[in-house]
Amino acid sequence: MRRLIELLGERAASEEEAARTLYSWWEDMKGGGVGVTRSLSWGEVWSLAGGVTARVREAGAEKGERVLLVFEPGLDFIAAFLGCGGADVIAVPVFPPEPRKKSKTDSEAFVRIQSGSGAGIALTSSAYNWSKKAAELAAWFGVGGDLPWPRELRWVVVDEAFGGGGGGEAWSSAGNGTCDVAFLQYTSGSTSTPKGVVITHACLWHNLGLIVADLEADEETVVCSWLPQYHDMGLIGSYLGTLYCGGRGYYTSPVNFVKRPSTWVEAISAFRGTHMQAPHFAFALAVRKRRDTVSELDLSCARHFIDGAEPCEVEAIRAFEACFASSGLKPNIIFPTYGLAEHTVMVSTNGRARVSVDPKALSEERRVVESASGQVLCGCGRPPEGVVVKIVSEGRVVPQKSVGEIWISSPSCARAYFGKEPSEDDFAATLADDDHLRFYLRTGDEGFLWEGEIVVCGRIKDLIILRGKNHYPQDVERSIEKDEAVRAGCVAAFEDDGKLVVVAELRDDADPKALAPALASKITDHGLPLSRLVLIAARAIPKTTSGKIARRRTKAALNDGDLDDAVLLDFRPDDVA
Ligand code: ATP
Ligand code: MG
Repeated sequence: MRRLIELLGERAASEEEAARTLYSWWEDMKGGGVGVTRSLSWGEVWSLAGGVTARVREAGAEKGERVLLVFEPGLDFIAAFLGCGGADVIAVPVFPPEPRKKSKTDSEAFVRIQSGSGAGIALTSSAYNWSKKAAELAAWFGVGGDLPWPRELRWVVVDEAFGGGGGGEAWSSAGNGTCDVAFLQYTSGSTSTPKGVVITHACLWHNLGLIVADLEADEETVVCSWLPQYHDMGLIGSYLGTLYCGGRGYYTSPVNFVKRPSTWVEAISAFRGTHMQAPHFAFALAVRKRRDTVSELDLSCARHFIDGAEPCEVEAIRAFEACFASSGLKPNIIFPTYGLAEHTVMVSTNGRARVSVDPKALSEERRVVESASGQVLCGCGRPPEGVVVKIVSEGRVVPQKSVGEIWISSPSCARAYFGKEPSEDDFAATLADDDHLRFYLRTGDEGFLWEGEIVVCGRIKDLIILRGKNHYPQDVERSIEKDEAVRAGCVAAFEDDGKLVVVAELRDDADPKALAPALASKITDHGLPLSRLVLIAARAIPKTTSGKIARRRTKAALNDGDLDDAVLLDFRPDDVA
């Protein structure tokens, strides 16, 4: 099976190719605008990755051993990831925990992944000062049993390997290539604790082939991305896709985007980005935080934006297109895309279909009834060749225009969750209707097919069931997110004890008392009984490390009193009435 490290080596073998830039890092410059702070050529990435391969071997790592990648956002991470492929170990990308005096959340999540994956080695660089962080934690929480830090972990700082370089031959000279698993991709943890998905080199190669074909990416491709490196969308879509298609990429950290969303469009303009990937909320944020200088940008270079990770709203897409039309942005190049870690990453892209449906029939009766005044849903594109998608309910394919669970069978389906046999409930489901044995991945997402495209309605686990009827949380959340005082992407709707509860972050300058009744009626206008609207301070809502709303964790935090300090107003509409 082909591996990315081989592909890298082949390109680096040509002198001309080796000198070409592959990965660049950008930051906001002091004087304004964006600038490249580090660039690596194909030859340099090959050499750094080879250095890492050599270090991992020196550390005594055995074939198939799990190795954590704990890096500050930057280009070191990607060299380490590729180097793991060379050393025949299984990379485990993680969010680098940032110890905090009051909260163990970050470091506990890290410990869970370390112990769950059984990793005994962590690769890191000196920029992530692990020993200082461990010492801080010990000072705050004591060194007893509760210390939220792995006890048996060997840290390998790879700076030296980077400095030394020249390890590029390590891969080819070792007679390796026998471990077929490339890495463990931990899911976002939107609905439960993140699960480690076993991604083989074959899955990766197959999925990258789908992505590159559907995006028509090639050597002229220029990626501009701020996505996290330790999640599939960023790691595969933004970093590995660039390597696979032979293009070039410019990257920064998610923190830089959140701090100053304009950095993204400025980078696209400056570096002539052609292919971009972002979760849906980013498009709305880029519009909200646009600068007056929009017309000075030149976005005519952009060819394809992947818009995914959460339900895509047509209004937000249109608003982004309209906002940046004066910067030369071409129309119709933002494509709703469906993907999940269990399918390596991408299922389908190039969504063009739009369907206006009766929301009640959809959520309550699970039927697609067209309605001109209804809710417009976006198709996420047709399944690519070789990817079989079925819409299923109770083990059978549903009739046309019906909603069901999305099932997928394709070579991109991951093998299993780490440490767990594949089962009928996840990677080895079968359909009564099939005439030969075929295994499906159950995605846990509801949706339907429209004009051959996949339309995703939402996660089954997040459904709000009130008086026996189903509702999608995002419909409730978005009804108030449109208010400028509410922070976009920072609202969680869930059911608690048969009642609808909504938790929403307000902007710092908003007045909760004045806003609450109007926000509550925006929700009840949907015909839903609202029991509680909890308005909280900015940046307090529990999110995943990929920036998604964690509804179940929000519910638990609210009920356990963990949000108490952040609550601005606990509004109960019934009390008012
Ligand atoms: P966890 O599985 O840990 O609860 P998660 O499902 O959010 O978290 P990921 O694999 O990172 O973990 O995200 C994939 C999920 O994101 C999909 O299963 C789906 O629920 C959602 N998603 C992705 N793309 C879309 C889309 N275009 N529209 C709606 N939802 C989407
Ligand atoms: Mg999931």
